[in-house]
Amino acid sequence: MNYDNWKLSNPIDDGWGYDMVSNCCGAALDIDAEKCPDCKEYCDPIEDYEYTQRIVDSIAEDRMDEKRLGL
Ligand SMILES: [Zn+2]
Repeated sequence: MNYDNWKLSNPIDDGWGYDMVSNCCGAALDIDAEKCPDCKEYCDPIEDYEYTQRIVDSIAEDRMDEKRLGL
């Protein structure tokens, strides 16, 4: 297989490889849904990778707080 065929056979990241989730619970959300299916609160839909990133960021912040407090 030459390079061009290999490249074409790969799944292309076209921006549709993620799901929308609620920003409060990370529950799967329809793009036009206004309420979180989990807690029934109004929420903003965000990309699932963005929600994951927020969790990662908050964990990183927690760790920094622990360092500051000397825990
Ligand atoms: Zn929620």
